[in-house]
Amino acid sequence: MAVLKAIKFKDRDGELYFRCPRCGMVFRKSKDYVRHINKAHGHLFRKA
Ligand SMILES: [Zn+2]
Repeated sequence: MAVLKAIKFKDRDGELYFRCPRCGMVFRKSKDYVRHINKAHGHLFRKA
């Protein structure tokens, strides 16, 4: 399954976050990020 590459960044406390490159939503867990991609942007991959 194709997945959009998350933009990873850390806040000032050193917590790692994942940001969606398409809509800018931010997630604490990569699992939540992947679920968001499939739910919100999954249609991008169904054509291929
Ligand atoms: Zn998104």
